[in-house]
Amino acid sequence: MEIYLDNCSTTRPREEVIEEMVKALRDEYGNPSSLHRLGLKAEKSIEHSRQVIASALRVSPDEVYFTSGATESNNLAIKSIIDKYSKFGKHIITTSIEHPSVLNVMKKYEERGYDVTYLKVDSNGVISLEELANCIREDTILISIMQVNNEVGSIQPTWKVKELIKEKKSRALLHVDGVQAFGKIPVKLKDWEIDAFSISGHKLHGPKGIGVLYINKDLKLSPVVYGGNQERGFRSGTENVPGIIGLGKAVEIMEKNFEVEQDLVRKLKLYFIDRLQEIDKILINSKDEYSSPYVLNVSFEYVRGEVLLHYLENKGIYVSTTSACSSKGSKKSQVLAELGLTDRQIEGAIRFCLSYEITKEDIDYTIDVLKDSVEEIRQITMR
Ligand code: PMP
Repeated sequence: MEIYLDNCSTTRPREEVIEEMVKALRDEYGNPSSLHRLGLKAEKSIEHSRQVIASALRVSPDEVYFTSGATESNNLAIKSIIDKYSKFGKHIITTSIEHPSVLNVMKKYEERGYDVTYLKVDSNGVISLEELANCIREDTILISIMQVNNEVGSIQPTWKVKELIKEKKSRALLHVDGVQAFGKIPVKLKDWEIDAFSISGHKLHGPKGIGVLYINKDLKLSPVVYGGNQERGFRSGTENVPGIIGLGKAVEIMEKNFEVEQDLVRKLKLYFIDRLQEIDKILINSKDEYSSPYVLNVSFEYVRGEVLLHYLENKGIYVSTTSACSSKGSKKSQVLAELGLTDRQIEGAIRFCLSYEITKEDIDYTIDVLKDSVEEIRQITMR
């Protein structure tokens, strides 16, 4: 029995993705920059993937750049926007619950004299648009907000941000970390006037080590890394051809199945929440109205998250306590602290991240195991 509920950390690649990648590794080993037939074949495959991804994002293919993953996409977006706009000001706005690939870049800019405003979130993990409007200043050059949080799944109202920027007559650009959103909730880059958007392959049943950065083509940003001028000079380095082909396949299937899978997962999440009520002293940190259908963070009071994680693992259920990126550190979850949770609630938090592969029977089994495990652990901790 294996029930994989850690899909925010990474996802299992779809069979079709694996098949395409093996084929690419075996047959498409040419360098896309080479002028012979093998090179041209690899180049054509890359452009096909770019087309598929652009079409899923409803943007133009020349606005899609391949990177090594969303950590690079976030770094690249933030650094290249700041490089270009720093002459207009040194103020940046972000949120207090961003991924480390945004927060740690912001820290570096603070050390260099930039002023960074970290928006607070409410108990559902959502920013206040009023606070955001009040923070936009004449010298604000960048607003970077994640679409869906990776620990609690809260959805930020990025669709309103450009409106506020315009009302304030600001020139600030909008970057959105879309890693946990793309393919999971509807995102409209052009309607919402998002300037830059980051995607990661391994969060959508594609391969690891491949990502995308969308950049509005009117921006004409400068590269951060220089080299052989691949990716139209913006992101040099020989392309990860199998990764790009695998990502293209994953996005193609995801796009086709989006509504069916989202509907299925939402119903499962609601069912999961319903059945969790059979366990006392819990707190749901990912309420349906404010969060992605794919993420369900729950605090089990009087239980240590890591202990419960291993109880579940022994029964074939895989979950996380906090985000995979910070779970190896001893620090408590900063995101849950920002939501205003008590230490006891933070300590007992478990993140269940769903996928199209999960069934109602899997949830029933998980609930049975949870009930027994939580009771057993509490018998020791509450003695
Ligand atoms: N942003 C968010 C919201 C994430 O969840 C992750 C992955 N944990 C990243 C960025 C980084 O993505 P990658 O693993 O592709 O570098």
